[in-house]
This record gives sequence, C-alpha cells and structure tokens, in this order.
Amino acid sequence: MAENISDSTKEARAGMATPEIMARTSAPVQYDPIRYEQQLSSGKWIECRGHPLPGGGSLAIYRDIGESKQLFAQLEELATTDALTAVPNRRSFLERAAGEFARAKRTRRNMSILMIDVDHFKAINDRHGHAAGDETLRQIAQACNGALRGSDILGRIGGEEFAALLPEADGATAGLVASRLRRAVIDIANKTGATSTPVSVSIGIATTHLCTQSLETIMANADAALYQAKQDGRNRAVAFAGSEP
Ligand code: GH3
Ligand code: MG
Ligand code: MG
Repeated sequence: MAENISDSTKEARAGMATPEIMARTSAPVQYDPIRYEQQLSSGKWIECRGHPLPGGGSLAIYRDIGESKQLFAQLEELATTDALTAVPNRRSFLERAAGEFARAKRTRRNMSILMIDVDHFKAINDRHGHAAGDETLRQIAQACNGALRGSDILGRIGGEEFAALLPEADGATAGLVASRLRRAVIDIANKTGATSTPVSVSIGIATTHLCTQSLETIMANADAALYQAKQDGRNRAVAFAGSEP
C-alpha cells in the first residue's frame, strides 16, 4: 500500500514515528493508535492508520480514499438538493435556517424569511401539462436565485412552495427583496414568449426580533403573512403584522 503512494508517503508521515527517532530512544516507545485523513499536495486523499506494536514502535498503513470521498460528496449532494430545481431541499433549508437563526440570536441581528407560493399553479399544470409545470418551477427557482444575494438561501420546501432566508435583513430590506423577487417571476412569461400563461407568486415576510423564540415561530409568521397575501388577491408580498407570544 505504501509503495504505490510513495510520492505522498513523506507528507503523510508527518507526526508519525520515524526509524531515526526510534533508533535514538533507549526504551521501546509506546504509541497510541491514530487515524487521520489528509489531502496531499497532488489533490489525492489518503487515510493513515497508525497501530502500536507490542515490542514498541508502530505500524503505519496508508490507504487511498479518493473514491469514497467522492462517493460521500455525491450522496451528500443528493440528500440535500431538490432534484427538480437544484436548490436546497426542505431538510437542507431548515438545517441551514436553524444555523442562521442561532447566529442571528447570538449576534442580536435581524434575519428575515420569505415564504413564496406560486399562484394558481394547479391551473398551469391543467392547461399546459405536468412537464410544463415542472419547467415553470425550474424557471421560478432560477428567477428567485437571480433576485437574491449570494449569502441568501433559497430552498424548495414543498410542491410549489419555496422559502428564502435573508441573513441580517430587517423588515424594510426584506420588503425590497420580496418586490424584486416577485417582479423577477412575472418576467418569466415575458422571456418565454407572449403565449405562455402569466406566472406570479405570493410572498409572506417575517423578520426576527430579539424576543423571537424559535425558527418555527418565524416560519409560522411568514406562513400567516403568505396566507394574508393570498387572501388579499395574490401576486403581492405581505409582511407579518401580528404580535409574537
Ligand atoms: P394558490 O394560488 O392558492 O396557491 O393555488 P395553487 O393552484 O397554486 O395551489 P394548490 O395547492 O391548489 O395546487 C398546487 C399544485 O401544485 C397542485 C400540485 O399538483 C402541483 N404540484 C406540486 N408539486 C409539483 C411538481 O413537482 N410539479 C408539478 N408540475 N406540479 C406540482
Ligand atoms: Mg401551495
Ligand atoms: Mg400555490
């Protein structure tokens, strides 16, 4: 094993016992078992396991783990990405949102959530077919991502529902982002031709306050605001105006 990664062995041996050190030591040196992974300057990933030997010294085994690293990355991508739109899926969005919520609490900064629901999406499916509906969802995700900053997180949290997390955004900023996003979605029909059915989204906005208890609270507030946007006639953004417990 060590033979076919000889270019990397020197690097990987950093920190391990060397024959020179062992030769200078009068009593047998005892080592604890170790295991670590290391990326070599060639880009290759190796695993090193060091086993103590009964008479002193240790045995180091190097293993090329490039393939399993790659497989793990692919599995992680599959588990966290929505296959249709390529944005984070519900689980991944909520995981990242929980992290951002904790950070907002710690730094005493705002954070806003936009709940985005496609208007009359069932009609788009009924009129143009499920495949055209799928394509519309892909375009909506793309349009929303284009209207957001790199630090914002867009996720698909249900069939035709998306959510956007805006770190450090207060209510006014979130309102501006929601308008930009809503216009970007309306533009989809202009880009794809005059005959396509107009597409629009309704958006519920909620912003954290120092007293906001949990991520669930802010998500529920954004949901309530979205419901209001639908009630008010759709194709609009509404900010949560209720009080928090
Ligand atoms: P509203 O304005 O009240 O939100 O009306 P709506 O028609 O968008 O809402 P409704 O909940 O009645 O319908 C949502 C539709 O979204 C029904 C469902 O078949 C469709 N849908 C959910 N997921 C997908 C998907 O992945 N692809 C396609 N093409 N359609 C989907
Ligand atoms: Mg819906
Ligand atoms: Mg809908």
